Amino acid sequence: MLSTFRVLRRVSVRLALTPRYESVSQWSGREPVSQDDPVVYALMQKEKDRQVAGLELVASENFASRAALEPMASCFNNKYSEGYPGQRYYGGNEVVDELEKLCQKRALEAFRLNPEKWGVNVQPYSGSPANFAVYTALLQPHDRIMGLDLPDGGHLTHGFMTDMRRVSATSIYFESMPYRINSETGIIDYDKLHETARLFRPKLIIAGTSAYARLIDYKRMRDTCDEVKAYLMADMAHIAGLVAANVIPSPFDYADVVTTTTHKTLRGPRSAMIFYRIGIKGHDKKGNEVKYNLERPINSAVFPGLQGGPHNHTIAGVAVALRQAATPMFREYQQQVLANANVMAKCLLDKGYAVVSGGTETHLVLLDLRPKGIDGARIDFVMEQCNITANKNTCPGDKSAVTPGGLRLGAPALTTRGFKESDFEKVVEFIDLAVKIGLEAYKTAGATVKEFKDFVKTDGSTQEKIQSLKSDVEKFSRTFPMPGLDDR
Ligand SMILES: *Cc1c(COP(=O)(O)O)cnc(C)c1O
Repeated sequence: MLSTFRVLRRVSVRLALTPRYESVSQWSGREPVSQDDPVVYALMQKEKDRQVAGLELVASENFASRAALEPMASCFNNKYSEGYPGQRYYGGNEVVDELEKLCQKRALEAFRLNPEKWGVNVQPYSGSPANFAVYTALLQPHDRIMGLDLPDGGHLTHGFMTDMRRVSATSIYFESMPYRINSETGIIDYDKLHETARLFRPKLIIAGTSAYARLIDYKRMRDTCDEVKAYLMADMAHIAGLVAANVIPSPFDYADVVTTTTHKTLRGPRSAMIFYRIGIKGHDKKGNEVKYNLERPINSAVFPGLQGGPHNHTIAGVAVALRQAATPMFREYQQQVLANANVMAKCLLDKGYAVVSGGTETHLVLLDLRPKGIDGARIDFVMEQCNITANKNTCPGDKSAVTPGGLRLGAPALTTRGFKESDFEKVVEFIDLAVKIGLEAYKTAGATVKEFKDFVKTDGSTQEKIQSLKSDVEKFSRTFPMPGLDDR
């Protein structure tokens, strides 16, 4: 009886909270979401609080500024503009044309590119479709590609497949041969890549990573591409912000095409861009000029090949983020990202942890938990219970992606909240405490990950330690500012 009453009361409270517009005349369309849809609004606030109260270490994430977020809630959302500036299929695009050209200009400026040598497409919806657009543009179905294997730090879209299944669409429509890292050093095995490329003769090689803490030797990959006559595509999704800030080497010196997301280190809205070379490529045997033929195939692969109307509201937000990325303030931020990642690696090593490749030259650290006798899946779970968010990650030699040996820890998001080196020392202390809780629980918990999780959730002494650490993490996290909109 009582529980039925509670349910009824809950339903009636919800109905009272949700405004019911009896007719069109009662609705202006200007009601805030808090009034129009309190249920979704409550979720927005809940997520906001989760982000403020936790330590965000997912290496691909960041906190976009209020200025970069605002245009996404603007009237640019309403406009259809299939086509490109000056050549649209719909009327009313004079303002959108201005916006897209501004975004293109800022994209070239942010990466210090000469507009006579590089063009850019800012319409891809996200990183994965951007990569597929490049393959669609430059390859025929079943042409060959090479990318860093996913367990070694590559991305799904670089052609991932298993013994059982062609997982990524890239491996379904194209023939993919991975290259790997040297499992001793944790560094890309460029010699083996070169040797394999000479046998496999790919038409495109991808230089880009999602979980790799070292700089990429683009020159070496360019040399291999030249020898086998392949395109070099750099996918700088993770490191675009560091490249824009000029704190790590730029792929633009060597690549034919560069793809990137805009929401990782670049700290903008979720979107992507494709840069391609234009102008004179070189000379043929008779001394005639040979021009790049990338612009038209890439633009038509994005639209009409793979996409419809561009997300103009997102392009507006990207334009804002790109202007920010060209400022000295942004360079200072990226220098701090590198310093923080470095401190994170050093502190972990000091505490006796193993780090893949022995350190970092980028925004992230790959923590290898195998020498501690535990794995990334279990520790990731314990950390999450304590408001520390990262992700489990394969380490060199790992067989399983479900219980991989390590964790990927990134500095960009917390650096945006103002974390300095000493704060990252504290972050490593929190991680260390979480690992210790996990190790202790592992001694008594059952053998499977599921049994481990059940044990962690129910064991009194483990829960006590978790709640205490969680409360310390939360107190610490809340002292730092959070960019973006206050309640969104
Ligand atoms: C994140 C990432 C992508 C894909 O981006 P989405 O926006 O998630 O589709 C592509 N390539 C690399 C290297 C990435 O890290």
